[in-house]
Amino acid sequence: MNIDTTVESALAEIAAADTEATLRDLEVGLLGKKGTITELTRLIGAAPPAERGPIGKAINVAKATVTQALEARKVALVQGAIARELADTTFDVSVPGARPDLGSFHPLTLVQERLEDIFTAMGFMVLDYGEVETDFMNFEALNIPKHHPARDMQDTFWTKDGHVLRTHTSPGQIRAMKQFAPPFRAAFPGKVFRNEALDASHEHTFHQLEGLFVDRVVSVAGLISTMKIMLSQVFEREVTVRLRPGYFPFVEPGFELDMQCLLCGGAGCRVCKHSGWVETLGCGLVHPNVLRHAGLDPAEWQAWAFGMGLSRLVMMRYGIDDIRHVLGGDLRFLQQFA
Ligand SMILES: [Zn+2]
Repeated sequence: MNIDTTVESALAEIAAADTEATLRDLEVGLLGKKGTITELTRLIGAAPPAERGPIGKAINVAKATVTQALEARKVALVQGAIARELADTTFDVSVPGARPDLGSFHPLTLVQERLEDIFTAMGFMVLDYGEVETDFMNFEALNIPKHHPARDMQDTFWTKDGHVLRTHTSPGQIRAMKQFAPPFRAAFPGKVFRNEALDASHEHTFHQLEGLFVDRVVSVAGLISTMKIMLSQVFEREVTVRLRPGYFPFVEPGFELDMQCLLCGGAGCRVCKHSGWVETLGCGLVHPNVLRHAGLDPAEWQAWAFGMGLSRLVMMRYGIDDIRHVLGGDLRFLQQFA
């Protein structure tokens, strides 16, 4: 075993290594536990004591030399690979890449934002309240006392501690009247929840938009004209509406406002249940009890309110005949709104 010749042949092998893998194997063969350079340490034990020091130093120099040569060769191989890749003329930089899929707004969001714009333009605040409500806010304050037939226990999701997932956006009326000094006008978009079975026109989660107009004197005529303006702007055309008396505990008088079905033009289809008309919203003059619960004196203040589901509007706006498409999450459906 000779230190100089061992180092010489190691350097020759390193210079000859032409891939990183070969170089890695070579590194193990030279500096590994049983590597050629590592084995040189056996010379120390075999030498007379006086020569051991110089031999040890020579071995350390040999190790450093080989280690440096390995590092330098590694760098050279990596740079060579990069240079070859850059020189490769078969890569065409002008070929278009794969386009990433772009997201788009959900049709419910599109309709909700359109409504928010319309109401903002009419001087309404847009307010956002919580989805978990107290029994008082969701029922009691809205003139729906305990044991009232309008409280169908089957249709309500209750939390373990006795709160409700709001069944309508109407609690926003009470919260707004407590929060803002009248006169004011406000719209409350949001999700509401009913414990219902799914079919072509029912979901357990609904998107609603509620509106409230509080002033010293308000009129049914003002309410109806606001509703007509709003619907005509949503659908960007004149819509035909009709008014029927409707019962909601929190308004008196209350109305159901129907719109002629835009899918079938009034001829009758699945969405309008073959009647030609679609129940669009409920509305009316706010009941004095509701004003009182919100801290307003009914002798001094009046209000009108309406509430409507957005799914129905989305179906009418985009010609969708099954509500399950709206919240189904099917990309083939949603991509049509991109
Ligand atoms: Zn129809």
